[in-house]
Amino acid sequence: MELIDPARFPRASWASDQPPVVNLVLPCYNEEAVLRETARRLGALLASLKAQGLIAPASAAYYVDDGSRDGTWALIETLARESSDACGIKLSRNRGHQNALLCGLMSIGGDALISLDADLQDDLSIIPAMIRAFREGDELVYAVRGRRDTDSFFKRFTAEGYYKVLAAMGVEVVFNHADYRLMGRRPLEALRSYAETHLFLRGMIPQLGFRSSIVPFDRAERFAGESKYPLSKMLSLAWRGVTSFSAAPLRAITGLGAFVSLISVALGLWALFIRLFTDVALPGWASTVIPMYLLGGIQLLSLGVIGEYLAKVYEASKQRPRFHVEAITGQWGQP
Ligand code: UDP
Ligand code: MG
Repeated sequence: MELIDPARFPRASWASDQPPVVNLVLPCYNEEAVLRETARRLGALLASLKAQGLIAPASAAYYVDDGSRDGTWALIETLARESSDACGIKLSRNRGHQNALLCGLMSIGGDALISLDADLQDDLSIIPAMIRAFREGDELVYAVRGRRDTDSFFKRFTAEGYYKVLAAMGVEVVFNHADYRLMGRRPLEALRSYAETHLFLRGMIPQLGFRSSIVPFDRAERFAGESKYPLSKMLSLAWRGVTSFSAAPLRAITGLGAFVSLISVALGLWALFIRLFTDVALPGWASTVIPMYLLGGIQLLSLGVIGEYLAKVYEASKQRPRFHVEAITGQWGQP
């Protein structure tokens, strides 16, 4: 650990009477259909926040193009030409929502960043409340979904179950919070020191500490286009959350092993009992074939889970970069 030099110790970024630079970060993957409307609403929001003196004039919206295959990047370039409060980063290919978001969080300056989805599902009207909380000293402000009746029953059911499973395994998550949040400069700097390849941001950020608060909102319908999170991506994010923060599955295997061993002891006792006290022939087929399948299944499952963790270690050991920036556009503020 480095020695602390009080003169250079990072001051909390809100500790100033000047309005802070608050930038918005939006990962976009094939969002051509919504982006123009998103930019229109964000432009109006930024203008009104600046007029109220809540944020500094240099604040802007940054669109991170996650390797889209449609006209998203061309549209971002147009938006950046049309207005000084729109900027863009283009990743060299699709790296997934978490990496695109991470790229934004790592590369954009400002006193605070607010991350939100590009499809207008995240209610913009709570942004002033988030900024006020920041200016009063909260360095992390989590937007938490209240009503989510616009999401499908399936999505709601699986998401709520998932948050409960994570909590039960000892992972610290903010219930019903996804990636709509404000982060001050100090937590952003802290996040920089986590070099994990598969970052699960909503599990990582509560671990950073710092003063935080919650602002509730109701999730709206996607404005246009369709979800870029099919079941397969949802499952992979969910699994990433479990294996990044908990060794519970590995421990469960040990438990399972112990349980199966107990069953075999019981079976042995039972066989002995039948042999000694009855004259019924031993049902050989059942006692051979059933345990064979049972044990085979459990062993394969266990190997799979161990393999998942091993794969994580393997990937972490390669320390590959999580994204590459191909281009930027717009009038970037000073870092
Ligand atoms: N997204 C991304 N890369 C991907 C998938 C999604 O940057 O590979 C972005 C997407 O453009 C959107 C946000 O992540 O801004 C959330 O995605 P979406 O709205 O499709 O997810 P849902 O709301 O259906 O969970
Ligand atoms: Mg969405």
